[in-house]
Amino acid sequence: MDLHERLLVQVSARDVYDAVALAGHPGSGLVFTGQAAHDAVRMVRRHGYDGPVLADRRRYAGSARVRGTARLSADWIADQVESGVTAPLTDSGYIGKGDEESLHAILEQAARWEGVIAVLPLHARWLTQDRATLTRTVVDYGVPVALVVEDGAPYLPMALPLLAAGVEAPAALAYGAEWAAVGVREVLRHLYPDTHEPRGGWRRGGARSAFVTERLAFVPVERLGPGTCGCSTCHGRPLRHLVAADELVVNTHNAKCLHRLHNRLLRATDRRRWWRELTAAALTA
Ligand SMILES: [Zn+2]
Repeated sequence: MDLHERLLVQVSARDVYDAVALAGHPGSGLVFTGQAAHDAVRMVRRHGYDGPVLADRRRYAGSARVRGTARLSADWIADQVESGVTAPLTDSGYIGKGDEESLHAILEQAARWEGVIAVLPLHARWLTQDRATLTRTVVDYGVPVALVVEDGAPYLPMALPLLAAGVEAPAALAYGAEWAAVGVREVLRHLYPDTHEPRGGWRRGGARSAFVTERLAFVPVERLGPGTCGCSTCHGRPLRHLVAADELVVNTHNAKCLHRLHNRLLRATDRRRWWRELTAAALTA
């Protein structure tokens, strides 16, 4: 069991009862999020789930986030291994704009533990202006990493695994990333900047968005267009039927459509080209 070319589904630890239904496809797997993530891992393992599972503590998000220079917890690593994760993730803090000290602190600590994946929660500028520094530093340490990219700039795909992403996850896979995880909820598809100003764009927890394959986007159900969906949840009905559906039904549709997209991706002979063509078509859809 490994993470090779997996498109994982990232859920909250309290979604443990729905999680297996959302990640039951071949090529899929789970990421549980939060401080109790390893308990959720233990629970799905006890119930026989044998796909890949990761646990993301997410200390890097929210207004109480810790900085990337914070000491990483060996207990958190041990708890994950003991609960049955595929590979343990570090409980990294946030790496702000140009904060090389944090980047080095995380990679240096992770390099001491064998088989650990260093989580790198990054300000958006690390993937634009500071991209070369990021790549060089990751290569220098030789530690497996998983990026979490903060909102703030369009995502330019790179061949590194992603946590808590949206459509950026299949994009990363198309560009050669080992694995990537799509969040099942809006908040798990983003890393919102920690700003003290009230943000008009804040979405409440109850908002549901449906993945629309032709647009390569998650669309709030109230704004779905007239298109239909052939997945085994929608059965060819107009996507708008999801407006009245439970969150689990919307998420099941999302998981199925992403799974189909993932299968197409794995079959494409030139994945980058295939993704670029799909992206171009989505812009006109
Ligand atoms: Zn559907």
